[in-house]
Amino acid sequence: MMHTNPHVNPVIVASENGRAGATVAMELLRRGGCAIDAAELAARVTEDDPQEHSVGFSGLPNLLGQVELDASLMNGRTLETGAVAGVQDYGNVISLARAVMDELPHVLLVGRGAERFAGEMGQKPADQRTFASLDFWRTRFTETGLELTGAELRHIVTRLTLPLHLEDRVPHGTVNYLVRDAHGDLASAVSTSGHAWKYPGRVGDSPIIGAGNYCDNRYGAVACTGTGELAIRVSTARSLILYLKMGMSLEEAGQECLAEIVQLKPRVGQYMNFVAMTPDGQHRGFSTMAGKKYLYYTGEMAEPSLGERETRR
Ligand code: ASP
Repeated sequence: MMHTNPHVNPVIVASENGRAGATVAMELLRRGGCAIDAAELAARVTEDDPQEHSVGFSGLPNLLGQVELDASLMNGRTLETGAVAGVQDYGNVISLARAVMDELPHVLLVGRGAERFAGEMGQKPADQRTFASLDFWRTRFTETGLELTGAELRHIVTRLTLPLHLEDRVPHGTVNYLVRDAHGDLASAVSTSGHAWKYPGRVGDSPIIGAGNYCDNRYGAVACTGTGELAIRVSTARSLILYLKMGMSLEEAGQECLAEIVQLKPRVGQYMNFVAMTPDGQHRGFSTMAGKKYLYYTGEMAEPSLGERETRR
């Protein structure tokens, strides 16, 4: 049943590419919709956008030119969660993650099993590649003169992407949504195609609960973008929530997570961003790189706004 509590102001915090999804999701929240529905809806809007090449339809292809998608979501009221990874031929992986949460006694499905489950849930398979995404994928082979035949993929992945890493030019991206609804419940959603030219089967932080996504009504919500391997190695999302639980402020908890990532000695081109929100609606963005922004939108605002992400002090 939908009912609004006028004392709780809805809030959406997102990665910078979350404007369209946040706008649609805020309409739902203003009508009394719940946080988990709003988080899923927001991510779907981003997944369906053919101009957003890091998420869903028209995502960045892997080394073999296949779009493999990852997503997760978490309900802060119940701590229920669902995730999928390495999914081909289905674009709305956030809804597949939602179905894993709602319909199965599991939290994470990968590859063929996830695709089979999508069929059982009535999703229709469709090629998620577009002319633009394939053209982009091919360009790197033309630039380097590398071919897929005759060499092991592990050598190609390095030769193809290392020079781009050194120049910080490996395309990747993710969308994050943290939502507080009018009842005060929290939810989080994350969706991505991962890194361009990734080794087939590579999974980043986005579908790993505790690494790229975590949400608990009592303490807050966190989601990550950037080099997922870093967030996996130090469990960034759950760590930040745990620091809040142990009594740190949002600022202190975020700074502690930045310090942990920096201690990993990220290689050139590797970086991490995360957004965080507390149950009272405070929010902040953090990044290991200067100049990054995040998006926030509260029920009192006419439209979403961008804030600066903090770097390590
Ligand atoms: N975190 C994502 C991943 O590692 C990519 C990104 O956000 O840029 O798959």
